[in-house]
Amino acid sequence: MKLKNSIISVVVISMFSCKTTNVTSNEVTSNKTPKNVILLISDGTGLSQISSAFYYKNSTPNYTRFKNVGLINTSSSRQDITDSAAGATAFAAGVKTYNGAVGVADDSTHVENIIELISSKNIKTGVIATLAITHATPASFYAHTLSRDSQEEIAVQLTQSKVDFFAGGGLKFFDNRKDGQDLLKTFKENQFDVNTSSLSDFATIKSSKKVGFLLSKEGMPTMEEGRGDFLSKATELGIEYLNKDNSGFFLMSEGSQIDWGGHANNASWLISELIDFDNVIGKVLDFAEKDGNTLVVVTSDHETGGFTLSAKRKKRENGREYNDYSEIDPTFSTGGHSATLIPVFAYGPGSEEFIGVYENNDIFHKILKVTNWEK
Ligand SMILES: [Zn+2]
Repeated sequence: MKLKNSIISVVVISMFSCKTTNVTSNEVTSNKTPKNVILLISDGTGLSQISSAFYYKNSTPNYTRFKNVGLINTSSSRQDITDSAAGATAFAAGVKTYNGAVGVADDSTHVENIIELISSKNIKTGVIATLAITHATPASFYAHTLSRDSQEEIAVQLTQSKVDFFAGGGLKFFDNRKDGQDLLKTFKENQFDVNTSSLSDFATIKSSKKVGFLLSKEGMPTMEEGRGDFLSKATELGIEYLNKDNSGFFLMSEGSQIDWGGHANNASWLISELIDFDNVIGKVLDFAEKDGNTLVVVTSDHETGGFTLSAKRKKRENGREYNDYSEIDPTFSTGGHSATLIPVFAYGPGSEEFIGVYENNDIFHKILKVTNWEK
């Protein structure tokens, strides 16, 4: 009788834990192969930038929703401190290359990126950024140039690319070029439907075509200038568009301007962009929880600014200085990038693979491993 009871309790407990796992899908860690991958990149974001969400956001940061966390070393092939081009090429193509290189290896040869690799398998692909879509990070996912500065060439390569959905700024590299080419016309010829005025509703998008949004001449406005929820909206629209055939998708969405706030040593710019990025994480995790087949990976190419959440230095009446631990005074140690390790947050099927300490280009190999996309 006693034995029977304990068997019953074991059954009840395991039924209960199964149910818990399904209900709070935060707990889901399975060996299932993800069908979709969403890679969120916060340019120039180290641990202090992420930590700022805990002190400056009015609600609990979405970063707290992750269980599987890792760290990457971001050095490039020739430099200890990477730039965004080498950093993004490591994620997009799995190789360490020299700073400034977009989609080419250290020996300048083209390297196949994840979008090229999977688009032939009917997997849909998208790139989104809050700077020009031709900027180093998004460019590394569809272009190959020896230098990130060749933005007009990168624009040409986007018109010829396999990308199904894109959104960001950088219109001038398409319609106001030194060579006089009108790439908006080229987009049309290449079956792209490109909108230059605003993000449209999903219902108005022609499903037969590839879709693009170029919504500012150069970078998108900053959050402080009133960019609003562009990045969340564009990411949700991208997910809806890429997921419509249910054939699997890869989406890279970048919070590009956290880096610029860091370069400018401007804490309020940096923190407002970081909070916007945290909101995007929330939208993406909401989708992934419902979907159950989506791997979400959140990371950064490098840290910018040597950003620190220091205690405020204050003076006592006697003139002696002290650290006031009740007040944060964000400070910077550089106007450039730093070499600090960068956190990786992962959620969904395959997310356990991202636990540990490894190199930035392993992100690419881990994505291909858990999705089986290389086969
Ligand atoms: Zn930078």
